[in-house]
Amino acid sequence: MKNLLQFDSEYLWHPYAALKNTPARFLAKSAHGTTIETADGYHLIDAVSSWWSMAHGHNAPEIVEAIQKQSEKMCHVMFGGFTHEPAIELGEKLVRFLPAGLNKIFFADSGSISVECAAKMAVQYQYAKGHPEKCKLVALKGGYHGDTAGAMALSDPDGMHVLFRGIMPQHYFAERPNCRADGEWNDEDFRSMEEVVALHKKEIAAVICEPVFQGGNGMWLYHPQYLKRLRKLCDENGILLILDEIAAGFYRTGPRFAMEHAGIVPDIMCIGKALTGGSITMAACVASEMVAETITNSKISAFMHGPTYMANPLACAAGIASLSLFENRDYKKEVAHIEKRLKQNILPLKNLENAADVRVLGAIGVLELKAKPSAEDILKVIRETGVWLRPFCNYVYTMPPFITTDAEIDRICEAIKKIGECEPAPVTDDDEFHE
Ligand SMILES: *Cc1c(COP(=O)(O)O)cnc(C)c1O
Repeated sequence: MKNLLQFDSEYLWHPYAALKNTPARFLAKSAHGTTIETADGYHLIDAVSSWWSMAHGHNAPEIVEAIQKQSEKMCHVMFGGFTHEPAIELGEKLVRFLPAGLNKIFFADSGSISVECAAKMAVQYQYAKGHPEKCKLVALKGGYHGDTAGAMALSDPDGMHVLFRGIMPQHYFAERPNCRADGEWNDEDFRSMEEVVALHKKEIAAVICEPVFQGGNGMWLYHPQYLKRLRKLCDENGILLILDEIAAGFYRTGPRFAMEHAGIVPDIMCIGKALTGGSITMAACVASEMVAETITNSKISAFMHGPTYMANPLACAAGIASLSLFENRDYKKEVAHIEKRLKQNILPLKNLENAADVRVLGAIGVLELKAKPSAEDILKVIRETGVWLRPFCNYVYTMPPFITTDAEIDRICEAIKKIGECEPAPVTDDDEFHE
């Protein structure tokens, strides 16, 4: 095992990590249900659903079987000039699962790519409408939409991507919504967005945001009334609304999609992460009938995007099995139950000396710290409690699989508390954004 880890640290990059001299890594051996087994004998509860994707738990037998069966027939075929049953069946399931009228599906290989597609689609729509000058987007401060250049350019402008400003397209940003999801709405909160749109509407193709739950940049939960106001503002100004449901979709915040908190439907939406139940990479950019028809009836009628692995049959098979689980299981009830348990356990952590804030919505529980502990201390808690947590910046959070039991939720929250009780580590210059 030591040799394997040595090789790893010599040759393999990991996400947001230095190649060498990073804190010890676990060697994952297998994963089933809520638990990841490591080569050195740890059984860790995956409290973050392997970056928010593993909604049904690891290696759900239905999904494993679907991938196995499909692999015997065809692992891949190009989607240019061919179509196939797994893509069609997944499409049929999605059309039933998605909000009415939002059903023209572009399969993408990852969440970031689906955001790229959404931005391009919005610009192509405006072009088709005779507005080639409308080629900027408005995004929210504090947002996260992915790591490719186009998606970085829509993520928080002061966040982890600052160093790449030189290669990013320039867009407009409105202030982060400040009204809490569990607080009162104040119309002032919408002022910044109104101002940005009033100032630049001639150039704006679309507004993009994560509905209710801003994940990757600040684990923030904001008031759904913001989205109601945003839908209206977009409609009044000929601007499209793109909702990035990659993290919030598939029951994570309670309802099937987070947009339901506000009772609105966007013109374009992005889904990913839990789409295949976390088993294999796959995302989608979904356009409304209106957007799709406008592009289709224009001079450039093709949507100009096409990845090599588009609609990969293995991923489609996994998606079909995952959607069957979403259809057949009562996750609305499960998530409501998890929410209650998280509230009981997490909200009292407000009293910790190092706590800045606590918040819970659906199967999302966040302890925001005033100062973060050292990576070594966090690792120690993980080893002691057998709970896999992955705090970033000052956020210690859980987004557990929906099959997590009460006893496991309690253990997760105990581990979060222990991290909250660790000594804050001295702040260094470069540890803000990597492990
Ligand atoms: C994770 C995430 C993405 C990027 O998805 P990848 O599959 O990592 O490219 C985009 N938007 C949101 C809201 C996300 O949480």
